[in-house]
Amino acid sequence: MGDRHVLLRGLPKVDEVLQDKRLVLFYETMPRPLIVETVRNAVGDLRTAILEGTADRVLTQDEIMDRITAILTEKKKKSLRRVLNATGVVLHTNLGRARLSREASQAVMDVMDTYCTLEYDLKSGTRGSRHLIVEDIVKKVTGAEAAMAVNNNAAATMLVLAALARGKEVVVSRGELVEVGGSFRIPDVMGESGAILREVGATNKTRISDYRNAYEEGVTGCFMKVHTSNYRIVGFTEDVGLKQMSALGKELGLPVIYDMGSGLMTDLRWYGLDEPTVTDALKDGADVVLFSGDKLLGGPQAGIIIGKKEYIDRMKKHPLARAFRVDKMTLAALEATFAQYIDREASVKEIPVLKMICARPHELKERAGRLADMLKAACPDFHYEIESCTDQVGGGSAPTCELEGYGIGVWKEELPAQKLERKLRKAPVPLIVRVNHDRVLVDVRTLADEEFPLAVEAFLSVAEGAPADGTGTLSHEAGTLSHEAGTLPHGAEIFPHMKGGEI
Ligand SMILES: *Cc1c(COP(=O)(O)O)cnc(C)c1O
Repeated sequence: MGDRHVLLRGLPKVDEVLQDKRLVLFYETMPRPLIVETVRNAVGDLRTAILEGTADRVLTQDEIMDRITAILTEKKKKSLRRVLNATGVVLHTNLGRARLSREASQAVMDVMDTYCTLEYDLKSGTRGSRHLIVEDIVKKVTGAEAAMAVNNNAAATMLVLAALARGKEVVVSRGELVEVGGSFRIPDVMGESGAILREVGATNKTRISDYRNAYEEGVTGCFMKVHTSNYRIVGFTEDVGLKQMSALGKELGLPVIYDMGSGLMTDLRWYGLDEPTVTDALKDGADVVLFSGDKLLGGPQAGIIIGKKEYIDRMKKHPLARAFRVDKMTLAALEATFAQYIDREASVKEIPVLKMICARPHELKERAGRLADMLKAACPDFHYEIESCTDQVGGGSAPTCELEGYGIGVWKEELPAQKLERKLRKAPVPLIVRVNHDRVLVDVRTLADEEFPLAVEAFLSVAEGAPADGTGTLSHEAGTLSHEAGTLPHGAEIFPHMKGGEI
């Protein structure tokens, strides 16, 4: 007991610690109450340890300050932080899907901390509509009669069904009852929207006669086609094309809705991308087409709805439109992204998602070589080898598409690949890599040239001995992702952390 008294007397006072000059920098960048709370808790923890008999000596002032500054440094980090994606998955849902183009980011910056024309018509000086902000450009680029944007494609699906088919039957093929991931399943959304799901056909075969037979006057609200964006049904199959479905819809006077998922604007079949384009969807006669803003379109999270004016007008007036509406930042990014599609050729070079998907293997090999040289020069203790690999579009798009890519296999004796992966994840700017048996793979498709120096810094931080482990729950959660990736057999090119197409 006497010992404890001695130890307790050696504890610093909270007020003294708060005046330590090592905290000066933190006072400049962090709210004071947060610092006070941290110091109080740290000193309290030391006291508890002494009282419980788990501390056998008094820590020096330096040791205590080291502990406190480490906690503060960790607290200063934002939860939403920049990372370097070296996984080769272009639309990595866990890493924020599409990277915006420079133009789109700039457009967001331009309206972010100022007033703007969100709902204001400069010409008349009266109230305007936020719907009009993207409508003109989307119409111009897609050729649609009308357009609107909501929070995401899930919201778009909900709004379309609620506005056009509440209390009515929506006819969908059993082969298209998609689960997109999480709790988003087409049948469940249908229920929530107030529409009634009418399944037709079998999982592998649906014929046009199935739709016709399902039709009942006054009961059927619409036909809906859902793109099987994250899976494909192959083998003994038959499905009804949009063209055929649209013709039947016209004959029966029913709207045909097409949830196409990704919203590819430019035909990229030449690059091995087997995805329908928005233009095709309209040409094939869909009355309403829905797609995501942050998949193959390469823009911000949003749901774009295009099609016949009479239907879009009904959606704009629906109460859910207000609940699902997007803010000025999203609209700014969307407008800028769509504007880039006016020049289709330039769009492939300037919209990061398209640029990454279209990168040719020889380019990637050359870039991998360049990064390897930088790494060798900075961290000669590691081994490096240029490797060919298979990359993915991700985001539940083009699930069967394998992109030929290149990366750098990196390893070091006595440093297990799992551990190297974890340390790279703790770098000042975290580098997210794949683990392939005894080495990590730094895939260059999803890394920009401008990010190479940061990737080098990540390896330097490992070489210098990364900061203390066990930091926060965020990195712990991220750990479960790559842990799974680590169990991949050599050469396996499935990304288990995408959970087989979860979007
Ligand atoms: C991705 C996807 C959705 C959901 O889109 P979000 O923008 O993620 O809400 C809905 N339907 C299909 C077919 C999809 O591929």
